Amino acid sequence: MLAEWVERLLSYASGALDAIRADESFPAFMQWAHSEGVNYSGGDEALAVALAPVLWSQTPLVRLDFARESLAPPGRNEPCWCDSGRKYKQCCDKVQLPAIPDHLMWMLSLREFKGEQLKAALASGLAPAQALLEAGLISAESGNRGRAQQIMEALFDTSDWSRLPEQAEPGFELLLDLYQERGFTRKKALLLDEVLERGPAFLRGVALEHQCLLHLDSDDLGSARAAFIRAQQTLPDSPTLAYIEAMLLLHEGQPEEAQDRARFWWRRLSKQKDIEPGQLEFLADLAENPRATLAEQMVNSDESLSDSLAALQALFEVIEHPPRLALETQEDGSLLFRQNAEQAVTLGLWEAVFPARIEEEAALALDIDPWDVQDPNEWLQQLCASPEWLDVPAVCQGLILALASRFGSLPWMSDTFFVPLAQRFDRWLDQIEQAGGLLRWEDGDNAQLLRCGLGLVIGMERGERERSRQLAERLLKLDEEDSLGLRELVLDQLLREGRNDEAVTLAEHDIERRAVDEEMPLLGILMGQVLALYRLGRDKDAEQALEIVREANSHLISLLVAEHPRPVSLAVEAPEPGTRGEAWQYRTLMRDQWKRSEGALAWLAKHR
Ligand SMILES: [Zn+2]
Repeated sequence: MLAEWVERLLSYASGALDAIRADESFPAFMQWAHSEGVNYSGGDEALAVALAPVLWSQTPLVRLDFARESLAPPGRNEPCWCDSGRKYKQCCDKVQLPAIPDHLMWMLSLREFKGEQLKAALASGLAPAQALLEAGLISAESGNRGRAQQIMEALFDTSDWSRLPEQAEPGFELLLDLYQERGFTRKKALLLDEVLERGPAFLRGVALEHQCLLHLDSDDLGSARAAFIRAQQTLPDSPTLAYIEAMLLLHEGQPEEAQDRARFWWRRLSKQKDIEPGQLEFLADLAENPRATLAEQMVNSDESLSDSLAALQALFEVIEHPPRLALETQEDGSLLFRQNAEQAVTLGLWEAVFPARIEEEAALALDIDPWDVQDPNEWLQQLCASPEWLDVPAVCQGLILALASRFGSLPWMSDTFFVPLAQRFDRWLDQIEQAGGLLRWEDGDNAQLLRCGLGLVIGMERGERERSRQLAERLLKLDEEDSLGLRELVLDQLLREGRNDEAVTLAEHDIERRAVDEEMPLLGILMGQVLALYRLGRDKDAEQALEIVREANSHLISLLVAEHPRPVSLAVEAPEPGTRGEAWQYRTLMRDQWKRSEGALAWLAKHR
């Protein structure tokens, strides 16, 4: 009964809106209600007429700058407002109308207004909050992301938070997602700041969570930790904290601490009475195994992909070792891998479903994002149905790159996707090492193997540091030219592990090698050398090395010592040498190590 009424009301209201928009005159609209309204009210003429003045009263009028021309209902013995000539009590007053939400016509108008008119309507500030919320959610659902963003921005107008309805949280999450999806990261950051400064308490939890995740996304662990501390002060009893802290500690490379803290949160929050059973269960799982719990959540977070990703995960649990490679030893003693005919056929099958191609010129890139295609399930499912494809290095490199691009920045995804593939890759690596000799990038199909390795190094870098570094070192031994740019990465890891002597040797070796080719040394290598020398107490050598850093990038030192410098937004491509962007990138990657080395930042500041 109610559903039928709602449907009838919506159909009538849309028709009425068109009629009102035609010339925004009440008499003309009443004429429409008498003559045509019945076509929209399911044949009920009395209803069509009785509804008209009610809906008119709540419709924003363009000629009044979006104000409404509200009519007061007539007295019982006065002439009816529908112009029938009868008394009100004998006319429209007799028609039973269930409740009509008073923001209905505004909500429908917001879906109809276009361009400048929509802008003006939103700017008028007259739209009821509930109308904005509903129109925004509906617009997003029907794929109209631009309109949805515009409407939601009016709802979360930061000049007045008091009119926001309590149920606005889904709208807030939607706006943040829209910003993220459409690349408005600055707007997103500003909105989050604003909510945290002045916004209503019921949005703060979501805001802090997003802020922390935003910092984690851009690898800014210091700011992420600051956001977490703030969250803890604002919402000491929020279950979200447990989840954020686990992610943060895993990003910081502290899995044991992550588990300890997850246990702490579970003990603490399980004593609360108002906690939901679903949340409690999640906290218990998190305390039991933070990585697996976060990984499971990740796999299930995108409903359209979760079945395929779970199938891939299951495949990785049972898949056996790959067959041996056919390797040749060349005249100069180096190794050559060439894809055979059978492997080429398999690659053809894979390429028929996998949409992206390897960029042959780059060490590690795909031409398009294989997850951003009509249906990524297609290639995932085909692969799961044909596990033998994974015996072919060229297929592995595509898959590893695809997985690294989507999950490589999430430390808790290492066990799920990268470690199993690394275990398989180890078999090939063992075989190559046993054969002895270098594996040059440019020979035959060697690049396929090196790319697999590099993809795995990157995929495991955050979740399995030790393993990632060991693999990188093994690859470097095979590929002395460092075609993959692994040396910088290995150096960073050595510094993290406090192996300073080895770090100095590696840096010196790289700088010398590049000097032979008259190449400029990489900033990360130069700074790694400085840090290692400083830690070893070799101040004079460190000062000398710093001299070269100053020449290579004049922004670096001041940016590194500053506590809160103005951030540099990084483009998709790697920043140019010598730029502020390059300096910023180094800062985000390694500042924590400088901070952890006693007196290092002060020493740097002195040598500015
Ligand atoms: Zn009437």
